[in-house]
Amino acid sequence: MPDTAYLQDDQFKRADRISDIGVSEILEIGARAQELRMQGQPVITLGAGEPDFNTPNHVKAAAYEAINANQTKYTPLVGTESIRKAIQAKLKRDNNLTYQLNEITVGSGAKQILFNAFMATINPGDEVIVPAPYWTSYIDLIKIAGGHPVIVPCTEQNGFKMVPAQLKAALSKRTKWILFNSPSNPSGAVYSEADYQPLLNILLDHPDVWIMADDIYEHIVYKGAQFITPAAAEPRLRSRCLIVNGVSKAYAMTGWRLGFGAGPADLIKAMSVIQSNSTSAPSSISQAAAAEALSGSQDCLLTQRDSFCERRDYIVDRFNQIEGLSCDKPDGAFYAYVNCQSLLGRKTPLGGQIETDSALCRYLLDRAFVAVVPGSAFGVSPYFRVSYAASESELKAALDRIAAAISELEH
Ligand code: PLP
Repeated sequence: MPDTAYLQDDQFKRADRISDIGVSEILEIGARAQELRMQGQPVITLGAGEPDFNTPNHVKAAAYEAINANQTKYTPLVGTESIRKAIQAKLKRDNNLTYQLNEITVGSGAKQILFNAFMATINPGDEVIVPAPYWTSYIDLIKIAGGHPVIVPCTEQNGFKMVPAQLKAALSKRTKWILFNSPSNPSGAVYSEADYQPLLNILLDHPDVWIMADDIYEHIVYKGAQFITPAAAEPRLRSRCLIVNGVSKAYAMTGWRLGFGAGPADLIKAMSVIQSNSTSAPSSISQAAAAEALSGSQDCLLTQRDSFCERRDYIVDRFNQIEGLSCDKPDGAFYAYVNCQSLLGRKTPLGGQIETDSALCRYLLDRAFVAVVPGSAFGVSPYFRVSYAASESELKAALDRIAAAISELEH
């Protein structure tokens, strides 16, 4: 029983700013998966948004060193000079971008950087253009800040990427931000320079619109595709770009909670007002570890990427062999976004009917004990997202079970 259950309905009322923000479908699936596990079922979860590697040893060593050197006090709000210098060098090395130290800040995860940015810039009713499928948190973060997400559904035919006509139609006098996330969670889509150019050209004519680039999957990009951030693709827009990035995905550091932002100094200053009144600076130990991750050996990036690539190839091939499912090979991140349109309307051996992608995901969890996330959670249906940051044996077992469960559906 939740510890607030004793309260009468009229004793607790949520603030308006979160009144239409519910528990996400991802959490609901997680709860059902946990329930089945408690019943002894062999549940495989392909829902995780984190690499299955360990944080590299040299990064852990930097954290021990920081502790032993008593770097255990508050740091400057925007981060130690050492982490900001490491970020500055990373932006030059990986993105060919020059940022001054006062144009860089750190937060407790990329998520906090996004939160700070929206809270610091959005007035009630301001719009943020969000290409879908999107990472679910964007919508809630924008709403909490009082903004209005303008969702642009991107089609599989266009590689789940926004095209210029869609951007033009979405722009309005109230547009504050456009949010790009490449490689994308959940589709794995990667915007090439050629994809960005016509979109950024349009934005050159809209001087009040800012560009937020969530580059968190930057280093998980496969052969044939190349990562670029909008500020590098169109330097004339650099003064309106906020780069959001972090160490969670690239260096298997999700638990360290360290993200960073780079953008114009005034924006960074405004964001630190929010941070100063919420969490203050992130953990001093995490900052030391992240500085090492960004400036030490980068070997893990390649080994992890190659390992993800093998798993991507395996699962995409397997999904395409299952009648009723299809999936193009995503260019980045560690997710596949699987089309399940052909399965809609089929009957389950449990007596139900698959009307939506959510229903299919519930069926796969109850019948095959495999947890995947429906496209409805990401704004484009009927699809489901699979995270392949799981072991080879888990992926094989999951695919075997999904194939068996789907073969039991009746037309
Ligand atoms: N952005 C995207 C697209 C993500 O998928 C995630 C995590 O899943 C984040 C940001 C948050 O990253 P962090 O762990 O640095 O807060």
